[in-house]
Amino acid sequence: MNQIITVDGPAGSGKSAVSRLLAKRLDLLYLDTGAMYRAVALQAHRMGIDPDDGKALWEMCKNLDLDFVSDGDSPGIHINGEDVSLAIRRPEMDMLSSGISAVREVREAMTELQRNIGKTGGLVAEGRDMGTVVFPDADYKFFITATPEVRAERRYLERTGRGESISRDEVEIDLRKRDEQDKTRSIAPLRPAEDAVVIDTTTLGIGQVIEEILLKMGKTSIQK
Ligand code: C5P
Repeated sequence: MNQIITVDGPAGSGKSAVSRLLAKRLDLLYLDTGAMYRAVALQAHRMGIDPDDGKALWEMCKNLDLDFVSDGDSPGIHINGEDVSLAIRRPEMDMLSSGISAVREVREAMTELQRNIGKTGGLVAEGRDMGTVVFPDADYKFFITATPEVRAERRYLERTGRGESISRDEVEIDLRKRDEQDKTRSIAPLRPAEDAVVIDTTTLGIGQVIEEILLKMGKTSIQK
C-alpha cells in the first residue's frame, strides 16, 4: 500500500515548505495540488474560457497535459510541455485559481487526476481538500494554519523578495478574501478533516513543524 500523507491549510500557513521537506525526509512524492488549480486557471485564462462554463472547462481539463518536474529542490509544472512554474505564481493567478477551483467540473477532473497519481506511489499531498475529499483514507492527515496577520506577513516577504511592489495591507486583504472564498464554497471547502491533526505555525519555524509531524507519525527526526 502506498503511504499517503495529506497536508491542508490556508494560504501562507507554511504548508508548501513543510510538505516539500516532509516528502524529501520520507522519500515520498510531493504533490502540489494548488499548482494544478493554478495551471488550470492559467490555461483557461489563455484560452479565454468563461470561468462559469463548466462544460468547456471539463473539456479543457481532460485535454490538459500536466507534468510535474523536479529540478533539485524547486519543483515545477509544465502545461503541454511548456514550463509555467513562474507564470502560475503571478499575483493575479491567486484569485483566478481560487475562482476556477470552485467549479464542480474542474474539481472532478483534478480529483480524479490526483487519485491516479496517488496510485503510482506514496505521496505527501498538499492542498485544501486532500484529507477531506481526495484521500479520505490517508494514513496521516495534517492541517497547517497560522493567524491571518502572520500568514500575510510571510506572503508579503515572499512577494517583495520576488521583486514585486505591493503593500503589506494589500497582501493581507487579498489573502483574507481568497481564504473566505475557499472556506465558503459549496464543493470541497477549505476545512480540517475530522481526523486531521491541526498544527498552528504562528510561532513555529519549519523545523519545529516537521518535528511535530514526525512525532505524531511515531517517528523521531533521525528515523526514516
Ligand atoms: O495552494 P495555492 O495557494 O497554490 O492554491 C491556489 C488556489 O487553488 C487556492 O486558493 C484554492 O482555491 C485552490 N486549491 C483548491 N484545492 C486544492 C488546492 C488548491 O481548491 N486542493
